Order: sequence, then structure tokens, then C-alpha cells
Amino acid sequence: MSYVGPDFDPPQPRRSRRRPLTVAVAALVPGALLGWLVYETVGGSGGGSEEAVGTPTSSSSAPASPTTASTSAPDDEKPSPVPTPKTSAPAVSGPLKGKVVVIDPGHNPNNFQHTAEINKKVNIGTGWKECDTTGTSTNSGYAEAEFTLDVAHRLRTLLEKQGATVKLTQDGDRTFGPCIDERASIGNKADADAVVSIHADGAGAGQRGFHVILPGSVHSGSADTRPIVASSAELGERIAGSFVRVTGSAPSNYVGDGTGLVTRKDLGGLNLSTVPKVFIECGNMRDSKDAAQLTSGAWRQKAAQGISEGIVSFLRG
Ligand SMILES: [Zn+2]
Repeated sequence: MSYVGPDFDPPQPRRSRRRPLTVAVAALVPGALLGWLVYETVGGSGGGSEEAVGTPTSSSSAPASPTTASTSAPDDEKPSPVPTPKTSAPAVSGPLKGKVVVIDPGHNPNNFQHTAEINKKVNIGTGWKECDTTGTSTNSGYAEAEFTLDVAHRLRTLLEKQGATVKLTQDGDRTFGPCIDERASIGNKADADAVVSIHADGAGAGQRGFHVILPGSVHSGSADTRPIVASSAELGERIAGSFVRVTGSAPSNYVGDGTGLVTRKDLGGLNLSTVPKVFIECGNMRDSKDAAQLTSGAWRQKAAQGISEGIVSFLRG
């Protein structure tokens, strides 16, 4: 709740705080040289302990971090390169070279101004559904559509570093949407090796945690998910596993029976996909504890990292 400025991500020099300070102290107080040497030996330069803090692998400290971290260590300074919505060229090499990943940032910040358009129904094979929705928001007004774009940008940066070619279904650059059928077709036309649709939920207070949504087996009208059910499940399981590990968040306590996995047949974005695809609801925006995480830039970086590691694991087999 102290995160009143969700977009406050001041660019900070990365990993440069400790060493200059250490050197300055050593120069001014020669008598402290021995202590400085001990300090450097223990963890000042070679141990990489700072990196370990930034890439948590232990889940034990994570649950308490949103409240405790805000007082002493502003976590918004940790996500080093704050991604900007630029379209950078794909890396020429890397383990994911030749792989195509489509990221689908759920909703669109402009949908609120185009309710008539997004309320028009589109066919999802099993029936008709609204073109798109506005999405939810935290109680303090941080919109899900802003969240999804931010995580998408961070995720794109991480995947491109691995050599993947990354495409977004929207980048806040459209007047509304795209509609859910077009979101699916963008992944299909790209012949994507993996597609992830990013969301945050709007459930009740006290309902917490993330869940990954897998396509159920649907064969109706233009929808036929049978060829992608198994591969999508594998993609989703890998993302769920790495999301737990990297973010320390628990699987949803209100759907999925504690597995963090839910199968659905009513989502057009999944029904119409012909390539492996999952949704992830990263948390519940309407729960204050989840919201404190979702509005933290440092946490969103962890979320992107967790999703990225799941995708990388899936694509590398
Ligand atoms: Zn959503």
C-alpha cells in the first residue's frame, strides 16, 4: 500500500552503489584497510551476493518482502534496465534463436474509451463473446491493462536476450483491443512456438495468488484445440513452476485446488489458438497484499523473469 506510484521506476545505476562507497571509505580511513579487505573478501566483490539478492531462488523470504522491503530497501530500484516500449531488433544468437514467442498483453489501456466497440461479439468457436474487455484494476486505480503491458515489455526484453523473436499482440498503440479472436490469430499467423497472455485477476479480497489457464479440449466451429492441449499444458506447467520459484508467490487459493493450474474452454484467445498458448493471472488486483506486489516494479520484474524461465524451459525441451 505504500506503493502509491506504481509507475515510479527511477532509472538507477546497476550494482554501482556498494563498490564506490567501499573504496571511498577505505581511502579516507587508512586504518580501516584491514576491515575493508575482510569486507571485500567476504562479499564485496567476488561473491556475487548482490546478484543473488536480485534473482531470488529462495521462496522462504518472499511472502514477507512486500511490506518489509518498502521501509529499508526500495525495491523499485532493483529492476535494472526498465524496459521501454521500443521494438528492438531480435538477438542474432542465443539458445532461443529461431524461436518465435508472442506475448499477449491482456486488454488495452484505451478500451475504457471504446466500450461500444469492445462489447461487440466475436465468434470463439463454442459461441460468441465480447471482442475484448476493459480488465480490472487495483482499488487505488492501477489498471490491469497497464500492468499487462509493463510485464510484457519486461518479458520481451528477457526473451530477446535469449535470442527469441518476440511479437506483442498490442502495445497500447491501438485505439482498442485487438479483439480476442484477432489476439489468437496473431499468434497463429506468427506460427509462434509459444504464446502467453498476461493478466491480473479481479477477485475478492483475501483471494490471493497466481494461476495459469490452460486450454481445454474444444472442437466446435472454428475452434479446435485438440492439437495444442498437451503442449499448452506443458508450457503452462513450466511457467507455473518457475513463477513460484522466482516470485515466491503461492498458487491461487481460490481456483485450481492449490496447483496454480486451471483448464478452461470459454476463452476465445485459447479456443482459437492453433499454437501452444496459456494465460497467466499473475495475482488478484483486488486483494491489498497481492496489489502491493502487482504495483511494485521489482515484483513485476520477478514476474516477467518467472514467465520467461518457464517459456525458455518449454522451448529448450
Ligand atoms: Zn484480464
